[in-house]
Amino acid sequence: MARLNFYFVFTFFALLFLASCKDPHEFRIDPAFADYLQRFENEGAIRGTNLTPQTSGLIMEFATLKDSTAGLTHYETPIRIEIDKTYWNAIANSAGADLMKEDLIFHELGHGLLGRPHLNTTLSNNDWKSILCGGNKVNNRPWNINFRGVRRKYYLDELFNENTAEPAFASLTLPVDTTGFAVDYQKTFDNTSQAMWLDQSSSQLNITLDNGRLRFISTVNSNFLVFAQLQTPISINTDFSYELTFQYPTLSNSNQFGIIFGHGTGGTTDPTEYFTISNTQKMQMGNRSWYSFYTELTKSSILTGGVNKLKVFKIGTFLYYFINNVYCYMSEIEATNSINEAGLMVPPLSTIWIDNFKISHKGALLAPPVSKTNQQITTTIQKVDNFIPNNVFNK
Ligand SMILES: [Zn+2]
Repeated sequence: MARLNFYFVFTFFALLFLASCKDPHEFRIDPAFADYLQRFENEGAIRGTNLTPQTSGLIMEFATLKDSTAGLTHYETPIRIEIDKTYWNAIANSAGADLMKEDLIFHELGHGLLGRPHLNTTLSNNDWKSILCGGNKVNNRPWNINFRGVRRKYYLDELFNENTAEPAFASLTLPVDTTGFAVDYQKTFDNTSQAMWLDQSSSQLNITLDNGRLRFISTVNSNFLVFAQLQTPISINTDFSYELTFQYPTLSNSNQFGIIFGHGTGGTTDPTEYFTISNTQKMQMGNRSWYSFYTELTKSSILTGGVNKLKVFKIGTFLYYFINNVYCYMSEIEATNSINEAGLMVPPLSTIWIDNFKISHKGALLAPPVSKTNQQITTTIQKVDNFIPNNVFNK
């Protein structure tokens, strides 16, 4: 017994000795993170925050983290940051991987080098206020943050200065003129000549006209991407709008449904833009080439179980999102090719009605035969097991 005690005490002091010998200025960075650390230092320097982790110490290493955690900062000396290897590799395969990695590393460095805690408040448009969002969930909101385009500059400003003023993109006052759009494609679904997709009906997705609307009944546990191919693609330089009316009376679930559009090649990872809502008043937007949706917003303009008109304007390099004619959000368009298809996403095991398919462009109505109104539109339907399967991990 005494012998055991001796070894215990010896081991204890040996460990204490080793711990006290640990270099408090150790600087050890996995090469995968070096560029992001350098960017962080550069962005800080631009904003008057000079950091010297090379001399003051910092450890950044890969780890296997639990509970859907992407990154973890340990307040040790020196600061030690762990990044989940599996998550890092998962996001690496998507468009926007560099921005997602930057967001993750900057978040952890915000904890570690700037001493900032989590901040889970929101801007006027319901965007997260800070890339330091994380930790304890707020109303079960996913941690997805729209860290792209004009938002990146704001989020970096806010990272180094919490008192940064609310940015223009967060205003709910529409900043552009949406008048002067002429209709190119229109379907009212009042009769078979005013319908599309009827010929795509199947045992898995039954499609019928129903009192001036088109009804989809899905009998399978998958999403359906329902596309109309535009005979004359819309140039990506043209300002356009796309709208569709939905009714999804299933009140008891949080399924997302909504519009999709972009440049389709028939592939399963086409850079298709999407704008979806749910009966729980959640709005998501994004592009399928990305790992996940940009962010999830709560929008009171969504009528639970009722008729909801989704409309998106592409003006310049931005998309402006409307729900029932209420301006909700703006964000950069990701698609860079001409828009050659538009349609909808039908949720799993659902019955959903649509109406008033309309695509317009900015400018005068094109005279026949250039006018595309009522032109024949070909259609395709793609069954996908997971439309947007991923949520961004906590950090
Ligand atoms: Zn955090």
